[in-house]
Amino acid sequence: MIGITQINKELIDRLNKENKGKKNQAGVYDLNKAQIEKKIVPWIFEIIRDWANKGENISIKSFFTLKRSKQKSKESERCFKHEKEVENYKRTNKGKGIAAFAKSPVFKKIILDAKKCNDCKNKKQAVARTVKLLPRLICKTSKNFWTSGKSSAKNTPKKSINTKFAR
Ligand SMILES: [Zn+2]
Repeated sequence: MIGITQINKELIDRLNKENKGKKNQAGVYDLNKAQIEKKIVPWIFEIIRDWANKGENISIKSFFTLKRSKQKSKESERCFKHEKEVENYKRTNKGKGIAAFAKSPVFKKIILDAKKCNDCKNKKQAVARTVKLLPRLICKTSKNFWTSGKSSAKNTPKKSINTKFAR
């Protein structure tokens, strides 16, 4: 999962590479409107696209998360022994609810043992390698995404959106 910090870092890397020390006295880059529009904005989207291409999810805090669709293997991530233990436990405790699972010390121990097990670790890695990346991004909005904007209250703006921007 990458976020704003990583995007910022890569933007600065690109600026450094391109400008080779041509910073102002404060040690920062002076960017005009055109540079921001023609360079920085496309770069942000390129960085997001490149990470998505690699199968990474991108989280823009307080806004949204972009999740790369993956086709997971149906194969279990546990080794044969532990998968059998889990399956046996599930079968004998079917329909007993949370008390028999999340709250059960017996079940907890099976899960904990599997977590420590090297065969399970190897199996998990092997299964992870078979995950197929799909050409789709799923956008999940953050908690306050729909309510934080002034004009988005109740989803219907009271006034029409002013399209005049200061120059
Ligand atoms: Zn195991």
